[in-house]
Amino acid sequence: MSATHETLADTTISIPSNILRDYEVYCPECSQECCHPIGVNVDTAPALTSVTDCGTRVTQHHNPESFPHRGVRVVLAFLCEDGHFFDIVFQFHKGSTSCVVLRHPERDLKHNSDESCPPTIWRD
Ligand SMILES: [Zn+2]
Repeated sequence: MSATHETLADTTISIPSNILRDYEVYCPECSQECCHPIGVNVDTAPALTSVTDCGTRVTQHHNPESFPHRGVRVVLAFLCEDGHFFDIVFQFHKGSTSCVVLRHPERDLKHNSDESCPPTIWRD
């Protein structure tokens, strides 16, 4: 989830109605419904709280003045079962909250990858 601190306007698309429909999340790349939640980041500069399959950790940003955002940013990270990474990003600013999708094609898993199971935050 390294894209948390990127400028949203450069790399995002609005959430098309085909991503959130029928109360389920669909992959913005391949449209399949098998999307695993792999991380949650809550950025309250200078603190960043991350939840992954490895647990919860809180880190501090090295340079909080350089952030492009001024309010809390909540990032829900997903990996579809075809290997596409994407985030659903909620950004609060001046009383409003925007919601966009951020794709990460550079992190996509290749087909026939050794990664057989997405690192879902938790499953029983
Ligand atoms: Zn996909």
